[in-house]
Amino acid sequence: MTQPAQQPPRNPRIAIIGAGMSGLCMAFVLRRAGITDITIYEKADSVGGTWRDNTYPGLSCDVPSRFYQFTFAPKPDWSHVFSPGAEIRDYFTSVARDHDLEKHIRFGTEVVHAEFGQGHWRLRTSHGDTQEVDFLISATGILHHPRYPTIQGLDDFGGAVFHSARWDHSVPLRGKRVAVVGTGSTGVQIVCGLAGTAGRVELFQRSAQWVLPVPNPSYTRFGKTLHRRFPKLGARIYESYRAGFQFLAGALIKPGKRRRLIGALCRANLRTVRDPKLREALTPDYQPMCRRLIFSGRFYRAMQRPDVGLVTENIDHVTSNGIVTTDGRLHEVDVIALATGFDAHAFLRPMNLVGENGRTIDEAWSDGPRAHLTVALPDFPNFFMLMGPHSPVGNYSLTAIAETQADHILGWVDRWRRGEFATVAPTRQATDAFNTEMRSAMPGTVWTTGCTSWYLGKDGVPELWPWTPGAHRTRLSTDTSGYDLRVTADRP
Ligand SMILES: Cc1cc2nc3c(=O)[nH]c(=O)nc-3n(C[C@H](O)[C@H](O)[C@H](O)COP(=O)(O)OP(=O)(O)OC[C@H]3O[C@@H](n4cnc5c(N)ncnc54)[C@H](O)[C@@H]3O)c2cc1C
Repeated sequence: MTQPAQQPPRNPRIAIIGAGMSGLCMAFVLRRAGITDITIYEKADSVGGTWRDNTYPGLSCDVPSRFYQFTFAPKPDWSHVFSPGAEIRDYFTSVARDHDLEKHIRFGTEVVHAEFGQGHWRLRTSHGDTQEVDFLISATGILHHPRYPTIQGLDDFGGAVFHSARWDHSVPLRGKRVAVVGTGSTGVQIVCGLAGTAGRVELFQRSAQWVLPVPNPSYTRFGKTLHRRFPKLGARIYESYRAGFQFLAGALIKPGKRRRLIGALCRANLRTVRDPKLREALTPDYQPMCRRLIFSGRFYRAMQRPDVGLVTENIDHVTSNGIVTTDGRLHEVDVIALATGFDAHAFLRPMNLVGENGRTIDEAWSDGPRAHLTVALPDFPNFFMLMGPHSPVGNYSLTAIAETQADHILGWVDRWRRGEFATVAPTRQATDAFNTEMRSAMPGTVWTTGCTSWYLGKDGVPELWPWTPGAHRTRLSTDTSGYDLRVTADRP
């Protein structure tokens, strides 16, 4: 009997929004699986997202570079254990070039609207043109929209003012008095980067941060040669970092020895601040790790320099020549750098996304961003996200998270190629159940121990993954339940 001729797998049309780390990862994973009809929309003129936009002095990764890289594109010659931002941007540029991803990217093209109907997504770009695709994948980032503080008089300041993610390199800083507003990882890195170069650095602190003292040595020529010669060494090191960060994650998600150990290391680090008054001012009033833990072997040394000052009074207003704090004191400065963070809850917005039955993303997220398994949304068929709500972002390498999510998404695309369904979306029940499961796991985590942070949603519950990153990997590679697959007799 003759077998029916096997149909070749369908080649889906896929749009990825964003050519940052996640978008490139997704495109690579799709290409590796033989999918070719991919368009990556990128509103800027180059790849790299975060690492393109952030160029401030002192910027470096706070995850070791040998772990903050793709497993499919190991780089043997990272300069430092925690490499500088420009090197990371160059890495992503070379990933795009070496893996032939650039040809898929439409630079300078923002997706402003996407609507689902009749089994397809129809996108509209900032140029007004449209495209129809079978799958829409958002890789628009979490820390992407700079958050500007509302400070009276800021617009009247006579010197330069800019956000850390929009650093103005035309402004000379040598010998200048620079105010750094904000004490997250970015504020800490800027202080370390400017201390000794600027004339004076004044750090305006609303709340102190815990700092884990992690040195950042450079790699020797010998070390780089070893990595080039023995690629398996890099893979081993990646795995050992993965295990180390899994250990750290254990401290984040449940109380116990690990949490106490990391807390003790942070406290010991704080004791290296000799002046008791300064030490007290730098002492946080919440548990270590409740906010994103800062890794720096240089911060407290920088803060003890005579040309670096700490201001703990709140900012009242800005005048033409400086910042006035609530105690009435004028701090005269030439430049104000706003290290005030990002709107971490915007996700893919302001893009307007319309799913089934006209349901908009703003309606779906009226109570805050929600997702099924961190990647999908009910009523939004054949739509997936990288770094979507609840992704495990607390002190972990997001390249590893992106690979896990991209593999999960590919699993669905592959099933579509085999003709198993026309559209797929998680059910509302499954998404609600998943969110309930997450919320009930939250109480033991360190993020709920009493601090404000960008991790918290508007209901005060962290929008994070409350289990280990390993659990995220396992769950996304095995759990395909909770999805509603719609099959049509004819191929769409
Ligand atoms: C200062 C800083 C330091 C960080 N350090 C670390 C670290 O040490 N370790 C770590 O794991 N993570 C770190 N992060 C988090 C970092 O954002 C992620 O690791 C990673 O770069 C996110 O990549 P992404 O592609 O998901 O998003 P992004 O890098 O934000 O890229 C999103 C891209 O999408 C584009 N885009 C957005 N909307 C649209 C649209 N509608 N149409 C077209 N294009 C669009 C943007 O232009 C951008 O290029 C840091 C973040 C910041 C801000």
